[in-house]
Amino acid sequence: MDFLRPASWEEALAAKAEHPTAVPIAGGTDVMVEINFDHRRPEYLLDLGRIGELREWEVGEDTVRLGASVPYTDIMENLRAELPGLALASHTVASPQIRNRGGVGGNLGTASPAGDAHPALLAAGAEVEVESVRGTRLIPIDDFYTGVKRNALAPDELISAVHIKKAEGPQQYSKVGTRNAMVIAVCAFGIALHPGTRTVRTGIGSAAPTPIRAKAAEEFLNAALEEGGFWDSKKIITPSVAKQFAELASGAANPIDDVRGTASYRRHAVGIMARRTLGWTWESYRGTGRSTEGVA
Ligand SMILES: Cc1cc2nc3c(=O)[nH]c(=O)nc-3n(C[C@H](O)[C@H](O)[C@H](O)COP(=O)(O)OP(=O)(O)OC[C@H]3O[C@@H](n4cnc5c(N)ncnc54)[C@H](O)[C@@H]3O)c2cc1C
Repeated sequence: MDFLRPASWEEALAAKAEHPTAVPIAGGTDVMVEINFDHRRPEYLLDLGRIGELREWEVGEDTVRLGASVPYTDIMENLRAELPGLALASHTVASPQIRNRGGVGGNLGTASPAGDAHPALLAAGAEVEVESVRGTRLIPIDDFYTGVKRNALAPDELISAVHIKKAEGPQQYSKVGTRNAMVIAVCAFGIALHPGTRTVRTGIGSAAPTPIRAKAAEEFLNAALEEGGFWDSKKIITPSVAKQFAELASGAANPIDDVRGTASYRRHAVGIMARRTLGWTWESYRGTGRSTEGVA
């Protein structure tokens, strides 16, 4: 195995163009596990560790440009106000040691349906900035996940950053696991209220071959909130609306039975998380002060 150590982003792109099968390594918290267990034996490892700009972020007027290697710890400590959903999701990743190394670029690179960043990115409506020697493109997050642990990157492309809209309303993230830390999600749910466009977006993790949105649930809720004048009145969401939203979210899941949980448990849990996170975010939007920071 050869180790490529580019000193700059340009060198990294040139190396990826020359060796398209090279496996990038950022925090290494996925890559090293695969190598240690002999699940992967790449001809080349492309170390991104010397490229400082990948660990930087910029807060713009409407959007945060988050470098691909910004560790979860930095998101939790510095971007909680701008990216509350992703900050909550980051909290649930593994342990402090892993959160100090791992980042969203690696989560996207692995594209596991259980990756914790995905539901938050789907709910917020992110775009993935990818680059190669051929140029740069922005991939809408909805188009990024193409199959189980597969993504839309071309062989010569690297992820440079993720563009995420700054929160203009409450966001929540909920994860079911067998314990509170160091646990892969049995299933997870992210939600973001977008009062500017009067829409709600969602993300479901670990309950389908890829991370997905609960689109029918979103459409139903968006219509119900609009028709009922909820955005202006800020009245309590009718229990029947919350129930229907939860059922549609549950119906969006397409899970499997595995060692972490059964398909039917996952479907059920997605519905529960959808209803709870809707309640938390809506209470926060209404300004009752009863929105919990709770992560189930
Ligand atoms: C003990 C343990 C517990 C964990 N718990 C969780 C958890 O609770 N939740 C969770 O979501 N994850 C968890 N993980 C998985 C891992 O920590 C995350 O997926 C993390 O986000 C990976 O980031 P990284 O920088 O370490 O990626 P790396 O391991 O460096 O890379 C991961 C993948 O992304 C690719 N890649 C990295 N950077 C780029 C780039 N710039 N462009 C293109 N491709 C790139 C790599 O080639 C590789 O395929 C855990 C891992 C361990 C070891």
